[in-house]
Amino acid sequence: MTTLFISDLHLTPERPAGIQAFERFAREIALGAEELYILGDLFDYWIGDDAGNHLGHGHTLRLLQDISRAGVRLYVMRGNRDFLLGEEFAAATGCVLLEEPTRLHLGGLSTLLVHGDGLCTDDIDHQAFRRQVRAGDWQADFLARPIAEREAAARALRYQSDALKAGKPLEIMDVNPNAVESLMRDHDVELLIHGHTHRPGMHELAVDARPARRIVLGDWLDQESVLRVDGDRFVLSPDPTATTSSGRAAIV
Ligand code: MN
Repeated sequence: MTTLFISDLHLTPERPAGIQAFERFAREIALGAEELYILGDLFDYWIGDDAGNHLGHGHTLRLLQDISRAGVRLYVMRGNRDFLLGEEFAAATGCVLLEEPTRLHLGGLSTLLVHGDGLCTDDIDHQAFRRQVRAGDWQADFLARPIAEREAAARALRYQSDALKAGKPLEIMDVNPNAVESLMRDHDVELLIHGHTHRPGMHELAVDARPARRIVLGDWLDQESVLRVDGDRFVLSPDPTATTSSGRAAIV
């Protein structure tokens, strides 16, 4: 059985190459797998399920539907950009929306899936933002506003967050090792898979002196990043040890 993991595609019509890369991946790779997990930030921003076509994502929604209709089990977790993905999106694409964190068994390992922004606990501003936008009343209030108003707010927010991040030291934008350890300990898992930081890698670590592993999915801003799991074999491509950091952390 083949299980694929991707995240941080940040799809937007402003970057047609990204949408084309996802289409190629959907048709040539995803359809050959049994399961596809998208661990957040599939979209650069999402302002409600009623506005997907308005934002120019109709084509991507149909691709997702093609994947699920072909029998591939499709799982989508919300990221810090597309945290408003909801049940209408799930119904339209045939995906299962995953709560964060999600625990599963993968390749013989107890595994936890998160988007990853919750682990960046040194970024105090972002953690405050995360608490705000995950609150049910904030979301209900936002979704009740006209699409044009929501879009303007999302664009302003994105601009502001890019500007903020541009001035932050890179360490603050990465996961906090203690946050990783305590999350893995709390959920009693051997493997953690996440995205968000745009720093793909496979890290060996120890949680309470037991060997553990953290796999970080890469973003799709320059090239597609895919984790493929066949049985107990985990392959992250492109090989993160063979590529140099592009400094893309500024737009997580
Ligand atoms: Mn993210």
